[in-house]
Amino acid sequence: MASALIALGGNLGDVRATFNKAIPQVCGMTQAALVARSADYATPPWGDEQQPGFVNACIEIETSLDPHALLFCLQKVETKFGRDRSPERRFGPRTLDLDLIAYDDVRIDRPELTLPHPRLFERAFVLVPLAEIAPDRVIAGRRIRDALAAVSTDGIVRLPDFGG
Ligand code: AMP
Repeated sequence: MASALIALGGNLGDVRATFNKAIPQVCGMTQAALVARSADYATPPWGDEQQPGFVNACIEIETSLDPHALLFCLQKVETKFGRDRSPERRFGPRTLDLDLIAYDDVRIDRPELTLPHPRLFERAFVLVPLAEIAPDRVIAGRRIRDALAAVSTDGIVRLPDFGG
């Protein structure tokens, strides 16, 4: 079994409800156990700033799928929740974005799958929830808590637990 870290994001529709439905689907489709789930965080829009703010979270799963098969499943779940890649602006609004952040210590350098995720260390909206569930995990030689300390977390707000 491998440990995979997955980042979730979205800014269209009821994103938190989408996460709560999508996470069991990811686990079911990948025959994975959910090891940890961060809180949800409200985060400022990025890329195209003329769009609604995002909600972001991270999960850790234990899976026996290989990284490519796992990414394929993540893309299937994105599509199921209404994400249509074709007409959308690259950094524009989306119902559900699932990024594979790390898969054990595997390194892959291909356009369709780069591991660890190449923009991980620039993205506070990934590092904040990741540091909540895996602060001492070392990815590409950097400890997550140290990587988080090196970025601005302005505008990122932890949301109360669902129903709380
Ligand atoms: P995005 O629209 O930002 O979700 O980017 C998705 C594209 O990035 C897809 O074509 C993926 O095949 C590719 N990609 C490369 N590495 C990764 C990764 N680690 N996680 C998710 N998508 C990836």
